[in-house]
Amino acid sequence: MERIYLDHAATTPLDKEILDKMLPYLTDCYGNADSPHAFGRKAMGGVDSARDKIADLLNAKPNEVYFTSGGTESDNWAIIGGAYAAKERGRDHIILSAIEHHAALAAAEKLQKEGFSVDYLPVDRTGRISADSLRARMTERTGLVAVMAVNNETGALQPIKELANIAHEAGAVFFTDAVQAAPHMALDVKALGVDMLAISAHKFYGPKGCGVLYIKSGVKVKPLVVGGEQERGLRGGTTNVAAVVGMAAALEKNVRTMSANNEKIATLRQVFLEGISGVDGLRVYGGAGDVSAVLSLRFLGVSGVDLVYNLDLAGVSVSAGAACASASVKPSHVMMAMGLTEKEARECIRVSFGKDNTEEEVREAAALLKEIVEKLRKS
Ligand code: PMP
Repeated sequence: MERIYLDHAATTPLDKEILDKMLPYLTDCYGNADSPHAFGRKAMGGVDSARDKIADLLNAKPNEVYFTSGGTESDNWAIIGGAYAAKERGRDHIILSAIEHHAALAAAEKLQKEGFSVDYLPVDRTGRISADSLRARMTERTGLVAVMAVNNETGALQPIKELANIAHEAGAVFFTDAVQAAPHMALDVKALGVDMLAISAHKFYGPKGCGVLYIKSGVKVKPLVVGGEQERGLRGGTTNVAAVVGMAAALEKNVRTMSANNEKIATLRQVFLEGISGVDGLRVYGGAGDVSAVLSLRFLGVSGVDLVYNLDLAGVSVSAGAACASASVKPSHVMMAMGLTEKEARECIRVSFGKDNTEEEVREAAALLKEIVEKLRKS
């Protein structure tokens, strides 16, 4: 049986073309990029061109691109490092959306324990944040505002430019977690007006364990990973050369193929939704204007975890909420922020499509899902 993978928001497969570009840096070109000799220079050549390419794709300057171990580290760094720097300016209040990834929420909880005050922006029933709700919470002590560009459970798109403007008017720094946006939209840090932005390579067919934090020139952020002088003294650790080379190549290919991929994915979503239409008590979260690759669904009265297990047995991989949370028994904080009760949130599953899925696969997955819902309802 060919398994059907519908969990691309959790991670994507590494593109073979990208692997080929990484391989020389995992074998012959093994120098430490910071070594001053020939081996080091060759490795640094790969790192420099990766940094240039990523800067160009994000409309940033190369010295505004910082390599990290992924989205989690980038989120942690932006929020913790940004808040520590803000405190030195007398600002000890931060604002996050209630639907941020756990990597951001946990960073804020740590800050709160250290004495920072933290406010959370609510979302409406479609998972969107309003400019007014941010405006109402800004104070002269607010140092940092963090709102993700695209939510990882619903695909909901946030008005980043507008929110960044509000933060700036009050003298705060604005960070966006663009981990789920990067696979589906071209990111221009200037057009978005953000001070910091995070991406993670494994969400756009690049390697796992590699990400970027963009930090606009002049924006103050304290380092989190201390050690050597890598990343202009702000992030210690020997550079993962193969991974950053792969990330740059993956981002470049992703931007180049994005519109065709998005078009295909929109069709896949439609085929899938048609396949499950007619099932009683179906609720779909996320929709018009949002990223179509990510879909949260609910079948009234049916447990999401039961659906995920049964689909897995039938050869289809989806998740119950975010992948990072699905190992725990906690209901999704995103769905609850959108007004669902705990019981309702436990009924949600997330289906996320990728560029290599076929219509046949999603039609089959939808048919299996329909059968499983009916079976579970009878049991
Ligand atoms: N932010 C968002 C929105 C995500 O979806 C993820 C990945 N689940 C992360 C951050 C964390 O990224 P990583 O897996 O690279 O640590």
